[in-house]
Amino acid sequence: MTAEILHLWINGQRVPSQGSRMGDVFNPASGEVIRRVPLADRNDIDAAVAAARAAFPAWRETTPLRRARILTRFRELMEQHRDELAQLASEEHGKTLVDAAGSVQRGIEVIEFASGVPHLLKGEQAEDVGRGVDSHSLLQPVGVCAGITPFNFPAMVPLWMFPVAIACGNTFVLKPSEKVPSCSLRMAELFKEAGLPDGVFNVVPGDKEAVDTLLNHPDVGAISFVGSTPVAKHIYETAARNGKRVQALGGAKNHAVVMPDADMDFTADALIGAAYGSAGERCMAISTVVAVGEAGDALLPLLKDKAAQIGVGRGDTADTGMGPVISATHRDRIVSLIDSGVAQGADLVLDGRGIAVPGGEHGFFVGPTLFDRVTPDMDIYREEIFGPVLIVLRAENYEAAVKLINANPYGNGTAIFTGSGHRARRFENEIEVGMVGVNVPIPVPMAFFSFGGWKASLLGDLHMHGMEGVYFYTRTKVVTSRWPAPAERTGSTLAMPTLG
Ligand code: NAD
Repeated sequence: MTAEILHLWINGQRVPSQGSRMGDVFNPASGEVIRRVPLADRNDIDAAVAAARAAFPAWRETTPLRRARILTRFRELMEQHRDELAQLASEEHGKTLVDAAGSVQRGIEVIEFASGVPHLLKGEQAEDVGRGVDSHSLLQPVGVCAGITPFNFPAMVPLWMFPVAIACGNTFVLKPSEKVPSCSLRMAELFKEAGLPDGVFNVVPGDKEAVDTLLNHPDVGAISFVGSTPVAKHIYETAARNGKRVQALGGAKNHAVVMPDADMDFTADALIGAAYGSAGERCMAISTVVAVGEAGDALLPLLKDKAAQIGVGRGDTADTGMGPVISATHRDRIVSLIDSGVAQGADLVLDGRGIAVPGGEHGFFVGPTLFDRVTPDMDIYREEIFGPVLIVLRAENYEAAVKLINANPYGNGTAIFTGSGHRARRFENEIEVGMVGVNVPIPVPMAFFSFGGWKASLLGDLHMHGMEGVYFYTRTKVVTSRWPAPAERTGSTLAMPTLG
């Protein structure tokens, strides 16, 4: 099979890179290289930023209503092409088609939210803040914004960013993961077909060179990042040092607390989907169960049975529940973490190492893996595994479970499974995590709320999409105005004016 050669998307056109470096795009289920992608160099980034900068004045002048109409057409095209995008995501990431289609749909909902931009950009207004003085606020675009995205949601995570930024009047340069570039490139073509002017949205697959050029580029005003915490830290520090606004979403270790009064069968089903869906490569995956009191003994056999039944195979096969992980390197890292769990004394209940997948002999597979009696000092607790490995810790009581979670450096998502409303309400209040589920295993907020974690899961202030997304991609200006009649003029004063 000959690998397809991809391109960059700059100023509304497919263009080759000015450099010569190329990356391999794998099908993780077969281990084959299916595409080769140019890795944008410094000159390519300069060209993309220049195109975005040139497009900015006219796009900023385009009324929010006209921008919204283009977004609405883009949403319609995305819906028509949802299966094609899901196919691309599944092929390059490995996740199942149904899972990929669901994540594309969640991304489309952000376009739907952004289409309400004429309403979202309404500022505040107050009459008579002083006698005869009025104030109002304006939400104005930042300019050229850039997004840097991870491999695990090839369409959805880019969609958290660029529709909101562009709706707000900015132009955008997207640097998608070089492992899964095709969805972003295809979305750029669809956005153009929807009527987006050239240069407003540019896509430059690449690696560290592309990212660092964006972070240091004087014409880039804002950086949105989603990926691992060490890279998020580099992004946050470099962009902030260069005076840019930045939101950098990092890694996660998401815990689910299971109370003894939970409905155990319902809880086990929820945890299986949350731990093993997308082979555990979701930033909101539940990777850690904290079983309180006797919940552990009731839950373990259910988890073991259900996890053992998951069909592992190619993402485009009907009876597959779970596909491969992204790369051979990542598979080997997951396997070595499983080895460390055994060596450090955790109880390996289900072992996914060395799973045989017919037809996937060269694919990057790890089977569902389950550990019990894990302790916080073990590497499988301390590290983000980002694979199909669920670990169970036992806690004596609710207070010990909360203490454990609050001591964890990450704070992306968490969930509690309980039959007690009082307990759930206390948990919502006490837990130091950004997104909380009550009997909901993956509490990803809808597009009209904002997505983001706490602590090492987010560096920066504002979360993505929802109103926080609008605030991230706009600068607020407050106007204070007075139109006095000639008789009301009071002459000059050197004292600090008090308007009341
Ligand atoms: P990653 O950090 O390796 O890469 C993310 C992006 O940064 C990619 O575009 C990559 O090309 C670029 N990059 C990688 N190394 C870089 C470097 N040294 N300097 C500059 N840029 C660099 O992440 P990944 O492996 O693609 O994705 C998995 C990670 O993303 C996991 O840690 C997961 O938890 C996290 N994630 C977080 C969220 C969230 O919302 N918090 C969502 C999805 C994924």
